[in-house]
Amino acid sequence: MVKLQPLKQQVMVITGASSGIGLVTARMAARHGVRLVLAARNSDALHQLADEINREGGQAVPVPTDVGKLRDMERLAETAMNSFGGFDSWVNNAGISIFGPAYEVSIEDMERMFATTFWGVVYGSRLAAQHFMQRGRAGAIINIGSLFGDRATAIQSTYSAAKHAVHGWTDALRMDLEAAHAPVSVTLIHPGRIDTPYNEHARNYYPQQVAHIGMIYPPEAVAEAILYAAEHPVRDVFVGSQAKAVAVGGAIAPRLMDKVMERYMFATQLTDRPAINDQTNALYRPGYGMQERGSHEGWHRSSSMYVKATKNPALATLATVGAGVALLALISNLSQNGSTDGATQASKVEPIPIHHEEQEQASHLTL
Ligand code: NDP
Repeated sequence: MVKLQPLKQQVMVITGASSGIGLVTARMAARHGVRLVLAARNSDALHQLADEINREGGQAVPVPTDVGKLRDMERLAETAMNSFGGFDSWVNNAGISIFGPAYEVSIEDMERMFATTFWGVVYGSRLAAQHFMQRGRAGAIINIGSLFGDRATAIQSTYSAAKHAVHGWTDALRMDLEAAHAPVSVTLIHPGRIDTPYNEHARNYYPQQVAHIGMIYPPEAVAEAILYAAEHPVRDVFVGSQAKAVAVGGAIAPRLMDKVMERYMFATQLTDRPAINDQTNALYRPGYGMQERGSHEGWHRSSSMYVKATKNPALATLATVGAGVALLALISNLSQNGSTDGATQASKVEPIPIHHEEQEQASHLTL
């Protein structure tokens, strides 16, 4: 069993620290006494965050980084060495999505997305693993996956593919490191839908603004999972029973989940607001930074029972029941309404009409 350092003795590298989950994690980690190396492309946001943390008595170093560039990532690791003599946990959090029909999204956009969402994780994981193996003291690699890395969704095809690749990479890396008796804990975090500017930063091919519509978890729940994994060697942490329900449903009834996704993922990802992503999309340029939350619609949860259960096994049964209820809600809604022509809608390149009653219905769902 790998023995990790207490948080207050740790140096942590966080990619994607300028916004959303990374920003919340950095602030929460600083409050626990973690010394931080902060990475993202938005240099102003990173400096502002580091100043804020240092002013409040913490220690943080900003390192403007494009995670899709190996040289940038090597410089990030070197800065952690030069500033703090090394690091104890490395969080591969930076990521971005593309919303659009799979047959429409350009290959150039897909490749840039993979550079960030997949290759950034590979570069970061390897640099961290090599560091922990060379120094011979335990460390944690924490990769941020997605519910869509367990089960693909319509509309975000390239993102689903990149997150499946992250899941596969993380599991394979864990086995190779264990076989080598390396003192490294490898954790995959599986967030459900989280309230961050993720959708505003995405590249969007639709005329409607994309958002989460339905049950939404706070970024603090993911930060809590990340900090737990930095201290405890844990294989997987699901954030939200929603994430677990999608994973289990996809594994045991894949065709049914196709129908669930086709039925609900258009209505629960496309709003009736006009898209703003042309101004805010961050696929090729830094996103607007220093915002923890986005513009989602639905039931905002205050925490994740699944994360609490991971930290406290006595709650695990309750969380399993929660995931079961979430899955049953999906299936029963599907059987009441029948499968619809989501696939037919998807085959049209024109805007997809959003029916208010569908949105209303979807917002009560657990997805
Ligand atoms: P945000 O858009 O708020 O944050 C994304 C972060 O990634 C930003 O700090 C951004 O900084 C950084 N980033 C993007 N591209 C690059 C790049 N090329 N190089 C360096 N940094 C980059 O979204 P979230 O906080 O929600 O996303 C964090 C992680 O959580 C992602 O991996 C995402 O896929 C995952 N996730 C999110 C979910 C959600 O519902 N929000 C659900 C499941 C998983 P900058 O633009 O300054 O470079």
